[in-house]
Amino acid sequence: MTNKVYHSNSKQFKKDFPIIKKLIDKNIIVYTKFEHKVEEIKKIDKADIINSTNKVYLNQEQKHAIDSIDHFNLFQVYLLYGITGSGKTEVFLNLIEKVLLNNKKIIYLVPEIGLIPQTKHRIQKRFNCPVYDYHSEIRVSEKKLIINECKTRKPLIIVGTRSTIFLSINDLGMIIIDEEHDSSYKQQDSFRYNARDIGILKAKIYNIPVVLGSATPSLESLNNVKQNKYKLLTLLKRASNLELPRITIYDIKNTFNKSGISDFLLNKIKIHINNNKQVLVFLNKKGFSDSLICNECGWISECERCEKFYTLYMNSKKLKCNYCLHEKPIDIQCLSCGSTQLHPLGFGTEQVQKYLEESFPNKKVIRLDGESTKDKSKFLNTLKDIENKNYDIIIGTQLITKGHHFKHVTLSALVNVDSALFSNDFRAIEKLNQQVIQVSGRAGRESFKSEVIIQTHFPEHSFFSIIKQQNYLDISKNLLKEREIYNLPPFSNHIIYRSKSINSDESYEYLMILKSFINKQNKNILTLGPSPASIRKKAGLYRWLLILQHDKKSELFKVINEVELFISRNNLKNKVKSSIDIDPLEST
Ligand SMILES: [Zn+2]
Ligand SMILES: [Zn+2]
Repeated sequence: MTNKVYHSNSKQFKKDFPIIKKLIDKNIIVYTKFEHKVEEIKKIDKADIINSTNKVYLNQEQKHAIDSIDHFNLFQVYLLYGITGSGKTEVFLNLIEKVLLNNKKIIYLVPEIGLIPQTKHRIQKRFNCPVYDYHSEIRVSEKKLIINECKTRKPLIIVGTRSTIFLSINDLGMIIIDEEHDSSYKQQDSFRYNARDIGILKAKIYNIPVVLGSATPSLESLNNVKQNKYKLLTLLKRASNLELPRITIYDIKNTFNKSGISDFLLNKIKIHINNNKQVLVFLNKKGFSDSLICNECGWISECERCEKFYTLYMNSKKLKCNYCLHEKPIDIQCLSCGSTQLHPLGFGTEQVQKYLEESFPNKKVIRLDGESTKDKSKFLNTLKDIENKNYDIIIGTQLITKGHHFKHVTLSALVNVDSALFSNDFRAIEKLNQQVIQVSGRAGRESFKSEVIIQTHFPEHSFFSIIKQQNYLDISKNLLKEREIYNLPPFSNHIIYRSKSINSDESYEYLMILKSFINKQNKNILTLGPSPASIRKKAGLYRWLLILQHDKKSELFKVINEVELFISRNNLKNKVKSSIDIDPLEST
């Protein structure tokens, strides 16, 4: 006996039915009816879940972006490009509403733990459904609760940092990845992964939309738009119709400046804080000064394990190597000539803080950098204090460039961006461009005219003429053209083999052996190096790198497999530690 199964709605069934009917009537075949139950996804009552009193008026661009996503049971990557203050979050909230009404769950990724509270707060104001935060700091019991909740059939939202993407979730309806350009989405050590890329893969498996948001999208994502892999949604106006801040490029050559702050900038800061507004000062250097120098012989206190200068931390009274994290008490005598004339060289956030506190004794200054954020709950309270205007001046490293909503800031200042102008990393200008736009974007988000001041020794550098236009897409187009000419990512693919050893020659030799093996096997793979890493020595280990380049990633994966076999067959890993970085974000 054989079975044949028809779907009752199929054309074939309708066509064959007269014959089937005759055969059934003659008892020649047996007819069995199966009922295939498609479980109806219960629609949720809008009133139960939406807090409509907190809904905000949307402008045309926002409405258009929201309406552009109308298939929620279909995989598609959307890139929501919106200038700073254009109301991207409002677009996300409206999309979340649609997904919740279908009784589904949402993952909402942010790059930093410090961004979770403000995001969670805005979501909770709008929806009466559970909103959980998920990150490295939550307790095991909370983690267990969330894992269980993910298996239920009720709508909920999880706001979290990169590891959230690995949660196993029933009825996942959408993934949002905010600040998609941020390098924090990539875990750079041990198990290397990029949460943005995993998020896209996950959306593909679940067959749902994934929305990437940014005011400064990565060149990779913009190139994917160009190739029609991603759909672009744009918000080019500030939501409240406010103007973008005015940018001044200030030449600090031959001017008086102390602790990195020019008199011009000091004066501007004074005007803004006396107007009862907040000022943001951005500087990508922690500590009090870059190093400690002997005024008599020029000796500089250096970490032997890394061959890099110690950074001076005045608050904690120590010298610390920012590379291997080794600490020691501050030297009181020169180790070369014995002089006690030791002085700080260069400046970091601690020194800027000290100078501004001395200049404005009646105003409150807060510093946000890696040192001040070790205690997460204290950091979150500080963010609240900033919002409540308990501080007048906020000084910070790249941490303050990440999507924080400082509504009382009317002046953003970038104290020292010059080193990025001459970096040998081909991504340096892309990163600087993102940094400048993100820092600028912290100013003037609510009301009042705002401005941005960038101090530099090189005002004639071409970067400044393009940055003044504040047109990120145009700038990116030019950067992409450059990458295309030199066949750099995203127009080719990179993987990096990194090696480290106490013996520099062994570290180098190891990569040389890999290089000659690869060159022999694969004539079409471009190998660059081995070259010393930009941090040549770290914690006593000498570091080298070998870059592999090819147009097709699949070719590179083949090579990785061949090399792994080659390494294990020849027992090469004995003395050298090595790692592979696929799609590296840093090539130095
Ligand atoms: Zn060190
Ligand atoms: Zn000396």
